[in-house]
Amino acid sequence: MSSVLVVHGGAWAIPEELARPSVEGVKAAARAGSSVLRSGGSALDAVEAAVRAMEDNTVFNAGHGATLNADGKVELDAIIMDGKTLASGAVSSVKNIANPVSLARAVMEKTSHVMLTDTGANLFAESIGIRTVPADELVSDFEKKEWEKHKNYVTGVIEDFSFQRDHDTVGAVALDSSGNVACATSTGGIRNKMVGRVGDSPVIGCGGYADNSLGAVSCTGHGESILKVTLARLILSHVEQGKSIADASKLALKYMSDRVQGGGGAVVVSPSGQWAATFTTQRMAWAAVERDELWYGLEQNERLKDQL
Ligand code: ASP
Repeated sequence: MSSVLVVHGGAWAIPEELARPSVEGVKAAARAGSSVLRSGGSALDAVEAAVRAMEDNTVFNAGHGATLNADGKVELDAIIMDGKTLASGAVSSVKNIANPVSLARAVMEKTSHVMLTDTGANLFAESIGIRTVPADELVSDFEKKEWEKHKNYVTGVIEDFSFQRDHDTVGAVALDSSGNVACATSTGGIRNKMVGRVGDSPVIGCGGYADNSLGAVSCTGHGESILKVTLARLILSHVEQGKSIADASKLALKYMSDRVQGGGGAVVVSPSGQWAATFTTQRMAWAAVERDELWYGLEQNERLKDQL
């Protein structure tokens, strides 16, 4: 079976100055994830590597470069899920962890829980030797300026998801050569969110889901809307009912837009290697590696190709 990896760098109205860095960032992340698959790594290893690459890139709203909450602080959420066993791990509201996706994986592999939050997640990180960084180190100059401009949650949210101004969540899905699928999602959430607000990203079935019998999904967009419709699982429910990956994504995103007026996007891979990158926002940077080809796009219906 040939492996596939698809990543997104967030669905929103990406401004011109961030368009190229976002596309370059998702392409680099897709290459990082696919090289793990090529060297025999699992889907789980690949999604973690791809998401780590974007958490380390300040152009994206995850790890370094995350958005700031109402207090001007970073609070990060992440999930990872293994489609083979349905094991998943998540962290929410963590403050000084550069790669929350790896902490989420440790929650999955080293505890009997699915999610750890805030102080407990940090204590766990320390106990297993995951390095913490000074919280300020995660704050980019871009985000400091944007936060100053939009210091109000309501204005922030309306602008972010109606006018879609924010810089965004990252995610990845993969299928490996053994037929296993996995997903991972990581975010700083919504700018000016209330302290302690947790969005969809770390919530199983909302920000991501993976099941070898159906496929894997990673979502992005307005978290409260995604939570209301359990977007990742909703997409897979349509797949369960016989829809293609692409149609299932479109139907679920349209439902979210009609039912709760929320914008967003998703990347999906099926157990047979079909994949899709779909969004209802103006733009979403995405990239996919299938055989020796690197596909990518930013605008609606854009599908460009590079050699790997
Ligand atoms: N879904 C994320 C959240 O609401 C934000 C995003 O995807 O941009 O926390």
